Amino acid sequence: MVDAQCAADSPAAPDSPYILNRESNEQQWKWMIGERFHALEKLEAVSPKLRTPTHAYVFENYDTANLIRSEDFIVVGSLATGGLSNAWGCGVARLSASEFSGLPIPYEEMEKSYETVSRRMGISGNADDDLSDYFGLDEWSQPALPLDKLHQRLYQNYSKLQARLPKSGFRLGRSRVAVLSKDLDGRKACDSLGNCLWGCHNQSLYSASQELAKLKQYPGFQHIQGMLVHDFFKSDDLWTVTDKHTTQEFSGRRLLLAAGTLASTRLTLKRLGHTSPLPLLSSPTAAFLLWLPKMLGTPRVSTFGLGQLSFALDLVPGVTAFGSTFSTTGLPVSEFASRLPMSKRYSIELLKNLLSSCLVGNLFLPGQLSENTVALGDNGALLVKGKEREETATIMKIAQKKLRKYYFKMGALLMPMSFSIGKPGADIHYAGTFPMHSTPQVGQTDILGEVAGLPGVHLIDGSCLPKITEKSHTLTIMANADRIGRKLALEQY
Ligand SMILES: Cc1cc2nc3c(=O)[nH]c(=O)nc-3n(C[C@H](O)[C@H](O)[C@H](O)COP(=O)(O)OP(=O)(O)OC[C@H]3O[C@@H](n4cnc5c(N)ncnc54)[C@H](O)[C@@H]3O)c2cc1C
Repeated sequence: MVDAQCAADSPAAPDSPYILNRESNEQQWKWMIGERFHALEKLEAVSPKLRTPTHAYVFENYDTANLIRSEDFIVVGSLATGGLSNAWGCGVARLSASEFSGLPIPYEEMEKSYETVSRRMGISGNADDDLSDYFGLDEWSQPALPLDKLHQRLYQNYSKLQARLPKSGFRLGRSRVAVLSKDLDGRKACDSLGNCLWGCHNQSLYSASQELAKLKQYPGFQHIQGMLVHDFFKSDDLWTVTDKHTTQEFSGRRLLLAAGTLASTRLTLKRLGHTSPLPLLSSPTAAFLLWLPKMLGTPRVSTFGLGQLSFALDLVPGVTAFGSTFSTTGLPVSEFASRLPMSKRYSIELLKNLLSSCLVGNLFLPGQLSENTVALGDNGALLVKGKEREETATIMKIAQKKLRKYYFKMGALLMPMSFSIGKPGADIHYAGTFPMHSTPQVGQTDILGEVAGLPGVHLIDGSCLPKITEKSHTLTIMANADRIGRKLALEQY
């Protein structure tokens, strides 16, 4: 296994309560802003995670090193060991058998892999609620993490509302997250210090890099860091990967590519010599702020900083939105002040009083509402062009209206002007450039991710997924890679 990581010199995540640090730690600037002013340089970045100095190493240099250019599309990727999972939001979900219909994969195989991967990562959120079937993960999950006061209130109000309006099309439940509520394999349970945005000193948040120690116990396993693969070729029946900067080469009968959808796509298109555009799926996304007036004056206490409650909302036939709400406590006020339509001075004053009774939320739509493309240019770079389907803007308006209505019934105001729609790619859910197909043609893969025209080369990241729904998609990428890996190993291809 090779990956591109070079030495990482980002500061460590804090290990004492967020609020205490903010009040009295004189060194907090090191991880809030960074010795090289990282947070200030990334003011325009799409997610607060991209601004945290502790995660700088995760996002550095991906598009430049992998020759990825974009028009109207936000490219985020990673050259780090463990990739974007070092900084992800840990939201997980399983696709149901019906969401798999039409996909050329036996569902039992996927189900087995979902279970294997979920148990290994450690998932919490088991709560037997209205989203249990939607997430499909409870039988393999640890108990849910505690809710903060605002989420408790929201959930109580939802339960009362649900008794009156059981078939409203709005379902609320605990977020299912790859975060430990009980110790697992040397990793510790979440202790709610509230530092999730910067990283977890307990390793409660799952990152793929945590798998390495176990992998290294296999005698046949070798891990090479710092190898930026820039090409691969075939000779004597072996596929060889090459590095641009060193003379390192590795060869094998099978090559499994998982450099993130965009980098894997570029390498594959280059080897195929394919220059016509291919579709790229992403989930149109939005963010919003909720105010719970009855909670005004709630004291701030450190709490879990990722998704606490999630919703599934039916919008129009065939389109459901998914999203989660987060405490605002573990987020710097600057994240909000920069978005208010008033001067910074007054924004800070207002937020100082208001924010402890507010939650922040996100929303995702299914990938079929995107219309992005990728194409290999003459210069060998991948050009990603962002676009959404015509109906997406209308569906977003419907989503905003319905969310406002349901949250109002639960005692929360969707703050005017806070509903902001992300640019294509802002979701960081990229997939589907080489979709799996039962009879793959050029630009497709078979059900083991093997690229049509490149026998022995398998795409095992998001690039081979035939669809993405509104649900978090990474667990499906992981389960699919697990399924393909098992098949290749056990059937001795
Ligand atoms: C802020 C944020 C929040 C997110 N939240 C969620 C969420 O809640 N739920 C969810 O499902 N998803 C979420 N995601 C998306 C999720 O992180 C990705 O879907 C997932 O990490 C993709 O995994 P991957 O292995 O395909 O690629 P990556 O994680 O990008 O890993 C790529 C790997 O390839 C290596 N690599 C790259 N290029 C090369 C090269 N040229 N040569 C050699 N090696 C190379 C890198 O070193 C790395 O090891 C989030 C992402 C971000 C950034």
